[in-house]
Amino acid sequence: MKYQVSINKALENFIEIEAEINSNEAEIVLQLPAWRPGRYELANFAKNIRCFKATAQNGTELKVRKQTKDSWKIFNIDNNKNITIYYEYYANQLDAGACFLNNEQLYVNPVHCFMYQVGKINEPFEVKLNIPSEYKIACQLTHIDNILKAENFDQLADSPFIASANLLHHEFMVENTNIHFWFQGKHELDLKQLELDTTAYTKAQKAIFKELPCADYHFLYQILPTPFRHGVEHADSTVIAMGMNNDMLRDDFYNDLLAISSHELFHLWNIKRIRPESMWPYDFTKENYSHLGYVYEGITTYYGDLMLLRSGVWNWEQYTDSWNGDFARHISNEGNKNYSVAESSFDTWLDGYVPGVPARKTSIYIEGMLAAMLADLIIIKNSKGQYSLDNVMHDLYHLFYKQKKGYTENDYKFLLEKYSKESFEHYFEAVIWGKNNLIAELQNILPYFDCSINNNKLTKNINSENNSLFNFLVNR
Ligand SMILES: [Zn+2]
Repeated sequence: MKYQVSINKALENFIEIEAEINSNEAEIVLQLPAWRPGRYELANFAKNIRCFKATAQNGTELKVRKQTKDSWKIFNIDNNKNITIYYEYYANQLDAGACFLNNEQLYVNPVHCFMYQVGKINEPFEVKLNIPSEYKIACQLTHIDNILKAENFDQLADSPFIASANLLHHEFMVENTNIHFWFQGKHELDLKQLELDTTAYTKAQKAIFKELPCADYHFLYQILPTPFRHGVEHADSTVIAMGMNNDMLRDDFYNDLLAISSHELFHLWNIKRIRPESMWPYDFTKENYSHLGYVYEGITTYYGDLMLLRSGVWNWEQYTDSWNGDFARHISNEGNKNYSVAESSFDTWLDGYVPGVPARKTSIYIEGMLAAMLADLIIIKNSKGQYSLDNVMHDLYHLFYKQKKGYTENDYKFLLEKYSKESFEHYFEAVIWGKNNLIAELQNILPYFDCSINNNKLTKNINSENNSLFNFLVNR
């Protein structure tokens, strides 16, 4: 399908979208995604669409009827070969996962506003941007003359772009990968320092998987004038929307930017490539249920900070500050007592991204992070430091993604047991599917690493000579 995007209605925040369909079938069904990967809940993007119409090559308007809330059937009874569709998409949500158009930028997450013809999801897609000549484009897709090219709908849906005259671009190499920073919005960041820190944590992440599987990786930073924090991962890029208030210390803002950036980069492997079997491939029309949120968000949250520590970007105090903040969020959530992290993952489709009913559920991010740490420590303890969760992640990447398949809970459990040489039956029963056992499990194992949780803070034991937790987390 060939799309064209125009910005004549920028002041009204409506993107004009037109597409050519070369198909002479009597009935053509177009599907808009019902959700976006990275946020496991239904999104109803179709509510932002107005003025949908389909026209034959002779200018005749064709009959259109919706089939579901987000699919349209075009009646092409004369079997016209070329049909044009037109609609307008309301783009007025400036965060890391949506769409925004004004007179300064065109920012699109294609999963919101582009459709595929049912039965032709694997065909190539092109998107031509009708934008002013001074606009630059930030996007993981290759583009020449303002035309973005995607191999199939999955790739298009996963490729956000910003087009703007004010985009700031900074590029550097980490081993064989070109890293791009794109900034939309004013900031006072030291780009040389950000480059050094990004290089350090990127190398630490690559060392786990032994390869960085893209030639180019793009950080699309939307810097907002008001307090904000949101990041979304993609195959070869991420969008990070950040804003600070006047009271925020510049160092805190910078460290938070590093934390979210390291988290999103880790997703390049963990979820964009290492993916649950039930999401392989994504089904854009309905819920893609998974109990494995403690792997794709929990382990990613754990490694996001850990990579900053291991690469020396953060010291022990900075790492434990962040850990203590997460732990405080964990203990203040009464939902831990009522619903397991696996069940909470399944239910993100109901209320995973809002507080929800009091004390109903736990967080796949925070409880998942603590569960990941526990699994890591069990493996390190049992193997006397020979193995760790790094080996499990390495194998998930090489034995599943590289073999073109998704993983299951049993696959993950098998790898944990392979490296710890111990049954993880109790871990899955008590921590992953059980309720409220996590803190006791952590308190049991931390003394082995000269640490404990005191007054809800991760601390080195005073009577220990060294800090073997730090050593095991950093030196592998
Ligand atoms: Zn994440």
